[in-house]
Amino acid sequence: MQLNPHYRDLKQSYLFSTIAKKVNAYSAAHPQADLIRLGIGDVTLPLVPAVIDALHAAVEEQAHQQTFHGYGDEQGYGFLRDAIATYYKTRNVSLDPSEIFISDGAKSDLGNILDLFSQDNTVLIPDPVYPVYVDTNVMAGRRILFLDANESNGFLPLPDPSVSADLIYLCSPNNPTGAVYSRDDLQKWVDYANDQQAVLLFDAAYECFITDDSLPHSIYELDGAERCAIEFCSFSKMAGFTGTRCGWTVVPHTLQNGVLHQMWLRRQTTKFNGVPYIVQKGAAACFTNEGMRQIRETLAYYQQNAQVLSKTLDALGIWYTGGTNSPYVWMKCPHGMDSWAFFDFLLAQAQVVGTPGAGFGQNGNDFFRLTAFGDCNQTREACIRLQNLI
Ligand SMILES: *Cc1c(COP(=O)(O)O)cnc(C)c1O
Repeated sequence: MQLNPHYRDLKQSYLFSTIAKKVNAYSAAHPQADLIRLGIGDVTLPLVPAVIDALHAAVEEQAHQQTFHGYGDEQGYGFLRDAIATYYKTRNVSLDPSEIFISDGAKSDLGNILDLFSQDNTVLIPDPVYPVYVDTNVMAGRRILFLDANESNGFLPLPDPSVSADLIYLCSPNNPTGAVYSRDDLQKWVDYANDQQAVLLFDAAYECFITDDSLPHSIYELDGAERCAIEFCSFSKMAGFTGTRCGWTVVPHTLQNGVLHQMWLRRQTTKFNGVPYIVQKGAAACFTNEGMRQIRETLAYYQQNAQVLSKTLDALGIWYTGGTNSPYVWMKCPHGMDSWAFFDFLLAQAQVVGTPGAGFGQNGNDFFRLTAFGDCNQTREACIRLQNLI
């Protein structure tokens, strides 16, 4: 028996455990402290009524022989794939429902997709980054090149034609930075990927937070993306499905002459047995008129929080990305503090908890992530404390 040696190359992730340890220690020493948590990357509002009704109805169907559902297609039910294809049409993206694969969330698929690619590929990953892209490739022993996202490029790095890569990860709107690629800049990435004959792995988990009509929601809004890109999306942030679990992955027939579509279908039908019927019914309800209206209300609540956060930073003259078109605000730490020093300072002086940028990569060392997923009154209160403190 030999272990996968690459697991030893994984860096221990101390980020959230260290945060928890520091917060617990502070709470123990100051039991009366009124802590405000703006560090979580999870949603807090419940599923909308249209989704809940659909879930209940589907549970009832499972109770009767005539309407019971056993195994479904591994790729997902037609009703959900059709609804997602229709959703893309509102962005002038034309997908065949067969190109859409339903999953239990974007994170699993972001890891699983690597089954299709040789270990010898070189992977290009921005820094700072959602840690899943890095760790899944480290586990497979792939060579990783990091791409500098920083203040000077607004945390939206562009391709460097002198660098060659086989797999490229992009996330827009970005976690952790909240930065969103413009149409022109994203087109440069698509052109680069096609030139390199690379595959672009595009994470669109936050597309629903985009309010500026000029910004692309999907990679397939760009010319030639259907020849180079796989898109991952999720109901998690869009509709509060973080605990209910549903997402989708688009693998176009036109990508690498259909080879990747065939391989992904084969992979999924072999290793995956589908998302629960009940959950898929709940997910499909998001795309009804009523469901969409309700979801937009929930998103507006978070967007309002994001606006409150960014207005506060504007008033303080602090440099940041995100805030609009994203639930994240990525701020430069004030007074020359690094991200852990600012974490300690904010916790001790304002009882506000955020996420140190260092947890997302080296280029996050001087930055700090605040999230808009909290309670609106608490977010306002946190902003008042921040203003008094800095
Ligand atoms: C939250 C998030 C997802 C969604 O993950 P799920 O597994 O669908 O819950 C995907 N990508 C990024 C960058 C995220 O932050």
